Order: sequence, then C-alpha cells, then structure tokens
Amino acid sequence: MWLKCLEDLIFPRKCEVCGRLLPVDVEYLCDDCMEDMPLTYYWDWPENPAEKKLWVRTYLNRVIPLFFYTRESRYITLIHKIKYQGKIGLGLYMGRLLGKKIKRSLPDIDYIVPVPLHPLRKWRRGYNQAEVIARGVAEAMFGPSDASDRVLTDVLKRVRYTRTQTRRKMDDKWSNVANAFRPHNTKDLSGKHILIIDDVLTTGATLEACATILVEQLGCRVSIATLAYVE
Ligand SMILES: [Zn+2]
Repeated sequence: MWLKCLEDLIFPRKCEVCGRLLPVDVEYLCDDCMEDMPLTYYWDWPENPAEKKLWVRTYLNRVIPLFFYTRESRYITLIHKIKYQGKIGLGLYMGRLLGKKIKRSLPDIDYIVPVPLHPLRKWRRGYNQAEVIARGVAEAMFGPSDASDRVLTDVLKRVRYTRTQTRRKMDDKWSNVANAFRPHNTKDLSGKHILIIDDVLTTGATLEACATILVEQLGCRVSIATLAYVE
C-alpha cells in the first residue's frame, strides 16, 4: 500500500473523465464520474431502442450499449482515449465494466468477436480498440484465466480499407461497409452464441455487416455490446 502511495505521489493518477486526482484505491474514474455516467440500463430491457434501431434485428438476440454518447457529454473523452491515445488499461477497465453489467442478461455466450480493423489501420494505430474492450468483457464474463480462449480475433477479416465514416451520410454508410468484411477462420461456430464487441454503436452499419456474416455464413446466433450508444 505504501508503495502505491509513493507511486501516486510521483505519478499522480487522475480521473479519466474530470481530471481530478484519484484516491489510492480508485482506478481510472472517480466515484462522482462513475455515479454520473449516463448508463443505458439496456441490459435489463429486451427490445430496447438499440435493438429496434438495427435493421438486421430479426437476426439478433440482444443489443446492449453501456452508456449514452452525445456531443456535449464529457464521457466522450473515454472513447477518444481508448481509440486514439493508446489507453489500453482504460479500454480493459471499461470492457470489464461492460462485461459485469451484461453478464446476467447474456448467460450463454460461447465466444466474443471484436469488430476487426483493417490490418493497415491496426498497424498504424498499434492495436484494435474493439479487441482491447473485448478482452475486458471476456475477463468479467468468463474470469481472467479463460478470457483469452473466448476472444476470437480471426473469425472476421476486414478486407476493405474504408474511409473514416464520421462525416458520411447515413445512407451510403451501409454500402460503404457491406462488403468490408469476410469470414476468415474455418473454425466451426454453427449454433454458437457470439457476442460482437465495438467501441461505439452509431448507425449500426458496421455491426450489421459483421452480424450478417456470422448468422448467414457461419450459422451463429449473435448479440452485440458496445461501450457507447449514439441515439
Ligand atoms: Zn471524475
């Protein structure tokens, strides 16, 4: 404990949302920011708005984002830090938080599949943020020792290097990503319940493209979970 105190003196840890100094026994988010997080509570709400939003919803079992994401929200910084600033520890922590919330609503998940990045983008960024979050989710759902066996990173492959989509219109988003993925590994997953993980659910086009392959080509049942949800 004293070593941890000493470490905090030399490298003060700050809340990733509000920037206030963290007490020794608190990780990443201060108690206030944890309490104020705009959670969706969609894990307790079958047929929630996120599930109704996706037009491949007939395929899907559950769709569960952790918190609401608006332009004004200070919680956006969590996604930016995980996605662009290499905050792997924060990504794992938020993944574990998501995993704890959804665990009871999804008791029969067999494997977790993070939305893949194009290999070139992954190489540039150094990591895939969806994969980091997925590892945290797996730790919370299956325990740290089984987590790595449950995350499958080679089932889907991103074959098209799509442009950043933030400024694209919703209409052409689907055509932009519909052929962006291919099934890759020949592992037999038929009948398995797969949980697809991504950082943010916006239009859902990317997640729909992944879900369609898993259902139509690999015969899986599919659920989706993300950290943030843009209504
Ligand atoms: Zn805070």
